[in-house]
Amino acid sequence: MIRLLLLVAVLFVGAQASALELKGAFTQGTLITGKVAPGSSVLLDGVPLLALPDGSFVFGLPRDAKSNALLSVRRKDGSVAQRKLKIRKRNYRIQRIDGLPKRKVTPKKRDYKRIAREQKLLNAVRHRVTQIVDFKNGFVWPARGRISGVYGSQRILNGKPRAPHLGVDIAAPSGAPIIAASDGVVSLTHEGMFFTGKTIQIDHGLGVGTIYIHLSKVLVKEGQRVRKGELIGRVGKTGRATGPHLHWGLTWKTMRLDPSLLVGPMPKVQKK
Ligand SMILES: [Zn+2]
Repeated sequence: MIRLLLLVAVLFVGAQASALELKGAFTQGTLITGKVAPGSSVLLDGVPLLALPDGSFVFGLPRDAKSNALLSVRRKDGSVAQRKLKIRKRNYRIQRIDGLPKRKVTPKKRDYKRIAREQKLLNAVRHRVTQIVDFKNGFVWPARGRISGVYGSQRILNGKPRAPHLGVDIAAPSGAPIIAASDGVVSLTHEGMFFTGKTIQIDHGLGVGTIYIHLSKVLVKEGQRVRKGELIGRVGKTGRATGPHLHWGLTWKTMRLDPSLLVGPMPKVQKK
């Protein structure tokens, strides 16, 4: 009897503890995945997050996230649990890149129309929140090579201060394979954007997406379902790039996050 009571107590505590599960590093630029009891609603700093019927939800901590955030969970019975999140600040590097075509650093007047149109296309697919949870299958590096640019760095291009770098650059030879970082659905392909060149965006569900840019070849179509590890394109230097590399980005809606936090260290490139 006592043993049975004990078991019930453990189960009860277990259920309480799992009222809110969070996964991810609490640093600026991180994607956090979470789970609450089915039917609960979740708010981050007072803003509602979409939670699926099974209780899954996600949110991002932007590059310059403040050091505190408050997560509130309202359960079906009306009770509210709150968790204060401490977010670690990061020190971002300064990266100087020279030798870029002048027009790619200071676009001409007529380029701005095109840039705005292309940004609108990207934002439109990023705002689309689909109820798939492919991101739960985890992520892998989409290409192998030397990391030539990290997330968050302040950029000085041809001597001019420009927007921070919100992705990871992997230097690889032109034509090297690019694979899907996780399961998902191709939400956008483009044969030549002003800054990003040949571009692929993949939707992994609940507003989580990854982007692959500067490609020499796009090998997938919009609407196509892809599996983690599947070949989707080839490395190139289209758009604003000085040499062949893959720029890999992670987005939660239009918030740009650090994809390297989702994967381990880059595997060593095998030399034959
Ligand atoms: Zn880049």
